[in-house]
Amino acid sequence: MKRKRKPRFLQLLEILVIYALMFAVVLSVGRSVLYGGKNSTVRILEEGELTGTVVPENAGTILIWDKDSTGKEGRREMSAILSQMRIPYKEKKVSDFAESDLDGKKIAVLSVTDLSTLGSRLTSLLDWVMEGHSLLVLYPPYNEETFMSVAPHFGITSMGNSLAYVEGLHFTSDLMPGCSRDLSISDPYRSSLDVTLDDDCEVFLESAGSSDTPLIWRRALGSGTIVFDNLSFLEKAYRGFHCAAYTLLENDCIWPVINGSTFYIDDFPSPVPEGDSQFIQHDYGMDIKDFYTHHWWKDVYNLSKKYNIRYTGLVIEDYSARVEGEFPRNKDVQRFQYFGNMLLREGGELGFHGYNHMPLVPENFDYIGQYDSYRQWVSVDAMRDALTELSGFCHELFPDEEFHVYVPPSNIISWEGRTLLARDFPEIRAIASLYLPDDNDVSYDQDFTVTEDGMVQTPRIISGYVLDDYMRTAALSELYFHCVNTHFQHPDDTLDTDRGAAMGWEELFRRLTDYVEWLNKALPQIRNLTGSELTGAVQRYDALQVRREETGNRIDISLGGFCDEAWFYLRINKGKPGHVTGGSLTEVTDGLYLVKAAQPKLTININRWPGQ
Ligand SMILES: [Zn+2]
Repeated sequence: MKRKRKPRFLQLLEILVIYALMFAVVLSVGRSVLYGGKNSTVRILEEGELTGTVVPENAGTILIWDKDSTGKEGRREMSAILSQMRIPYKEKKVSDFAESDLDGKKIAVLSVTDLSTLGSRLTSLLDWVMEGHSLLVLYPPYNEETFMSVAPHFGITSMGNSLAYVEGLHFTSDLMPGCSRDLSISDPYRSSLDVTLDDDCEVFLESAGSSDTPLIWRRALGSGTIVFDNLSFLEKAYRGFHCAAYTLLENDCIWPVINGSTFYIDDFPSPVPEGDSQFIQHDYGMDIKDFYTHHWWKDVYNLSKKYNIRYTGLVIEDYSARVEGEFPRNKDVQRFQYFGNMLLREGGELGFHGYNHMPLVPENFDYIGQYDSYRQWVSVDAMRDALTELSGFCHELFPDEEFHVYVPPSNIISWEGRTLLARDFPEIRAIASLYLPDDNDVSYDQDFTVTEDGMVQTPRIISGYVLDDYMRTAALSELYFHCVNTHFQHPDDTLDTDRGAAMGWEELFRRLTDYVEWLNKALPQIRNLTGSELTGAVQRYDALQVRREETGNRIDISLGGFCDEAWFYLRINKGKPGHVTGGSLTEVTDGLYLVKAAQPKLTININRWPGQ
């Protein structure tokens, strides 16, 4: 039967009505729903919103360390890792360590270079492991007699006389999200034990290239477990690797994470920066200003649309060297409005970088011979006046916005500047400086934490467009340790030979795209957050108190310092997750799960495999 067709004008009217309704919806809900902008999914909390306390867990881990430099480095790294994982532990210097220190513990971590210092206590320690406990050897000990005598316990069948030269990393398993690609080591040296292992060792990481030296492996010893971390790099960029080694010890391991990915654009919007334009002129035949609009921003903007990145731009009002007196308003606002509004329309956010690019440091601040062109501020009052002007400028241009994030110019800030921000600029809730310590020693490096004055530290882990293997190693490490990605770029990275300008924008952008694609593939579940949403996420992470109780095949988690949600990674080494109450989970890689707690009580059932 033929359907009766509606008159054409009625069809048109229907379409018009539908469009009108859609338009009305868009107007009424505003940008917030469309882009997630205003009604942030992870809002910044006020004091007192994170409530509840839990009875602390007993320390189940003992960290045994030696006072030589490597032993101390191991202690420093492992203390940071365990405390941020909220795993209570006791420390013992190797000279003071006694067998009785193992009472009530499940895990021992050895940060000891010369195992002979343990004497007969080494045998006791290994006996204790055989009884059903776990041991992490945090870094390769000296290749000496005592170590040789117990090496078979670690699954080592033979050992070369010299250390192995580790030029790259190759994962033989799905241990960490995004680990499928080999990474080269930038300054390789003879760093790891050159070992051959027993067949019963399970290798997770080995050196890339011809030598395939095992770098992280696990082996059963009696009823217990040994994980040997032969990686040797005891620095912040590798914390996720040592964290991963630790999480392989027991049946399972659950620890709080941030779950956030944030991309910052420094000096954006800003006046057109100065720089060497020879590469731009050569490749594009245009000046810097036009290049930014027609190539750089177009590409960076399209990338954000494709991968739902919501950039956080950091405003510079004026590239002057003024550090005293009046701070005149920049009247040339067309670029600020054009770029700023485009970024905001896509659900992005703006924060403060500076009235100008002079770091907030007083006259007595020592740049130790670096940053010759930088001037120190004549007084804290001058810093305050400049920031007040920047705030007025930003609020005038973007009257509906709030500005919660501050990024210190060149990642440098003094104690005076920091105090000024916390005391006189309550709108600023987060400082986003560097995560990894910089060699230059004047940079401000941070952890993901909240300081006593309530200021949230949301450091940036990696930067720029070159994205070499060291940066990619750090990114991989943090994607595991904290489930976090933070990256910053500057438009003028394209003008600076130290930051790869000579490669040309096409290659630099290819590298950025490659990184974003990697991240998206490694962990599609990670939340794309703006700088202030990450601030809210770090608040929830930092305040969290965790009490884990494991009985049989069930993990009960009680949370203090909780408001509305908390995130965890759960590694299950034996079994699969079953029913979850008080939250939910998704699988990230083989045996690793991202867990959301929606209530302060969370229960996860584990289905162990038969015979476990
Ligand atoms: Zn900058």
